[in-house]
This record gives sequence, structure tokens and C-alpha cells, in this order.
Amino acid sequence: MIRLHENASRILILGGTTEASQLAARLAGRPDLVAISSLAGRLKQLVLPPGAVRIGGFGGVDGLVSYLVSNRISLVVDATHPFAATMSSHAEAACEQLEIPLIVLERLAWKAEEEDQWHCVPDLESAAALVNFTENRVFLSVGRQELAVFSNCEAAWFLIRAIDPPAESLPPRSKLILQRGPFHLIDELELLRRDSINYLVTKNSGGTATYPKLQAARRLGIPVVMVDRPLRRITPAVTNLEVLLERVEEYL
Ligand code: NAP
Repeated sequence: MIRLHENASRILILGGTTEASQLAARLAGRPDLVAISSLAGRLKQLVLPPGAVRIGGFGGVDGLVSYLVSNRISLVVDATHPFAATMSSHAEAACEQLEIPLIVLERLAWKAEEEDQWHCVPDLESAAALVNFTENRVFLSVGRQELAVFSNCEAAWFLIRAIDPPAESLPPRSKLILQRGPFHLIDELELLRRDSINYLVTKNSGGTATYPKLQAARRLGIPVVMVDRPLRRITPAVTNLEVLLERVEEYL
């Protein structure tokens, strides 16, 4: 049993990413702090990070403010996904209001290599307009939540990959596969070849777990429609877990 120091700092980790879980694992079990991971609770098969976990939205900025106060949180780490723009801006607003320090962890964006054929677009709507032609067989790897953007794409054929079954109606010409990463190059090559894919649509999530699809597209000469990250915040981000841990130590 761990005996907590009576003045243990209480840290809220806004999670839903591999990096957030890694951070929770590194902080779990320390007697000088309590780290609580927060998940939105979108996935049916949740993989819980180590340590204390809370699940579900806070109820906007006001809800987050009252959570931070009632749970005596003294530091917030925003380690959400680069596309989780609303949660990040709520974290900024709530921390500013309460004058609680906020550290942001954001993985680096992927960068195109010389042989890559990337078409960068600002949003999923632009991606849908770019690929929706009859000759296209599109691997759509953008998660489950925003698939509605593609539901009226009647011309192209789509191979859609998600972790859980999507709630939205899928494009009329499509096939759904349910898989959770990390993925491997050999399997991604097979996936793209098997359905004669000639376009890949993805968000610029960064990280290693889903990068092999880009390596496979490069190898097969398949063009990629890359959805750029939304502008999320003003607080500068650290991109590395070790640097983040140093910053956490500075605050403790
Ligand atoms: P979002 O659009 O920024 O957030 C929408 C609302 O969901 C927030 O206002 C908040 O509700 C709630 N929420 C989001 N993240 C939360 C968290 N970590 N803990 C508690 N509540 C949270 O977020 P999203 O893009 O839907 O992403 C949801 C979660 O999935 C995030 O934790 C993110 O890290 C993870 N994720 C997202 C993506 C992606 O592509 N967007 C990919 C992989 C993982 P309230 O306003 O009620 O507080």
C-alpha cells in the first residue's frame, strides 16, 4: 500500500492518447502526488490508463472549473489528441480562470518525405470533395466520430477503418473494418493492395502507432489526402514525455 504524503500534489491528465497513458504510468505509485487521468469515454472498449481515472465530459469550461476546484487540482496536463481542439481550449480557459498551471503535451505532426504525394487540406469536408470520384478506391482512416462528412459521397468506394462501429451512416459504396492500432507496415501494405486502394485519407495525428499506413502509401505510390491539425491553443506545447516529466517536477 502506498502512503500518500499529506500535501501530495493533485494532477489532472486530460488523456485519450498513448502519451497520456505513458505519463499516467510514469506518475502512478508516487507518494508525493496523485495523478488522475480523464477520458472522454467515447470508445466502447476503453483501455484504462494506470492509476486513478475519471470518465466523461466535465460540462464545458464551467464544469471543468468546478471539477478542478472540488478535486483540489494544482496542475493540469493537456495530453489530448492534436484534433481534440475543444477540450484543449476549455483546459486553457479553466486554468487561466483559476490561475492553475497548464502543461501541454502534443506529439509532433507527421512531415512528408520526398517520395510522398500529399495533398494537405484544412478539414474533412475538403478531403471528401477531393476524393469523391468514381475511379477512386479510398482508404478512409480518420476515426469514427466524423464519418458523417463522407456519408453522401456516392461516387468513390471507401475502405473505412475504425476502432468501434460508427454511429453515422457510411458512404453507400464502402466496407468497414474494425481494428485498433498499433499497426505494422506488412499488414498495411496487404490492406492497401487487397482492395486496390488508390487514395488514403488521414488526419495528421502524428505518432508511431498509425504511421505505417503512410509508409505503405509511400511504398505503393498512393497519394495521401492529409487533413491538417486545427489551431488549438495559445499555450506552447512540449513534444516529448521526458521534457514533460521535467516540467512536472518543476511545478511540484
Ligand atoms: P473535443 O472535440 O476536443 O472535445 C469535445 C468534448 O468532449 C469536450 O468539450 C469535453 O466535454 C469532452 N472531452 C474531450 N476530451 C476529454 C477528456 N480527455 N476528458 C473528459 N472530457 C473530454 O475532443 P474529441 O476530438 O471528441 O476527442 C475526445 C477524446 O478522444 C479526447 O480525450 C482525445 O484525446 C481522444 N482522441 C481524439 C481523437 C480525434 O481525432 N479527435 C483521436 C484519438 C483520441 P465537456 O465540454 O463536457 O467537458
